[in-house]
Amino acid sequence: MAFRSVFDGGALRTEFESAGISPHFVPLIWKYVLHNPGCDLSDVPSLPSAAYPLLISKFRPLTSFLSSALDSNDRLTTKLLIRLQNGNSVEAVIMRYDTRQGKYDGKPRSGGPRSTLCVSSQVGCKMGCKFCATGTMGFKNNLSSGEIVEQLVHASRITHIRNVVFMGMGEPLNNYAALVEAIQIMTGFPFQLSPKKITVSTVGIIHAINKLPIDLPTVNLAVSLHAPDQDIRCQIMPAARAFPLGKLMDALQTYQKNTQQKVFVEYIMLDGVNDHEQHAHQLGKLLVTFKVVVNLIPFNPIGNSSCFRTSSEENVRTFQKVLRGVYNIRTTIRQEMGQDISGACGQLVVNLAEQRSAGGASILKDIEDLHI
Ligand code: SF4
Repeated sequence: MAFRSVFDGGALRTEFESAGISPHFVPLIWKYVLHNPGCDLSDVPSLPSAAYPLLISKFRPLTSFLSSALDSNDRLTTKLLIRLQNGNSVEAVIMRYDTRQGKYDGKPRSGGPRSTLCVSSQVGCKMGCKFCATGTMGFKNNLSSGEIVEQLVHASRITHIRNVVFMGMGEPLNNYAALVEAIQIMTGFPFQLSPKKITVSTVGIIHAINKLPIDLPTVNLAVSLHAPDQDIRCQIMPAARAFPLGKLMDALQTYQKNTQQKVFVEYIMLDGVNDHEQHAHQLGKLLVTFKVVVNLIPFNPIGNSSCFRTSSEENVRTFQKVLRGVYNIRTTIRQEMGQDISGACGQLVVNLAEQRSAGGASILKDIEDLHI
């Protein structure tokens, strides 16, 4: 029998309410489990006596476990492989930055060390983007809100997490109800992440973008545009056929009007496909009326089978120069992290599946090897 996670907040509240137990005990259970992830639910103190048999018969503190964690050589990235109770695995990645590095306006930057957790929302993905390892797996299943939050619980045992980005396996807006519930839990007691430190990334599921200003008005939205026109988008992102670029831009206009938030635009740089100077001009014209930050992403090849190549550094710099200089669009280049540990989304799970089918030994370190 499959148990629910206590972090499946809606399910737990419903069970409590129908048993006449106040749902205000729910965050207290979460706090205890967060600090004692190996606990038994009968250990949670100070609950009404009717809560214990209900919890024990239907819920588990955690339904997933951290099967392995792999540090990059520079120790800035830790990739977590998390095993779900249905036997599937998902990835979550901890990325560490120091915002004091470098100078701003000739002065030292403020801030300090930060950790961002990249979480998965689905096992596999239906969207089939051609440059993405997860896209090659097809879709397996949606994660529950509890399974999404549990990734934060596992990561929090390794380091303090300040930011969460939904850029791991899956299209988060295709698992909308679980996404909204997971973010509500992450921003409430005891996690208390600021909604401004949470980013949801989508290929552009228009009907779901239209609901975001109501359900998640203050979280950040990142849109994986990856092309300046519909033809190139369809070529590299088959799902773009269902969400034409013109309609997507209209939805983003409305989103921006309703939330007053800037939108983050993700653009993967693929040699000879979308990285010419003329593409930068097309993109600049498309975005010039928006409040956006464009993030240029050097492509991370998926093994030897990839049909794409990484853009040259020169092309990436020229692209950035056009967007900044001609269109005055804030444009950053994503720092490559974790290349030595299959840093791109889905690579670890895909590698693991390939190794299993080849009967190979695991490339992964055991959890016991973690330096925590
Ligand atoms: S890039 Fe994102 S949306 Fe596209 S296939 Fe990969 S996980 Fe899915």
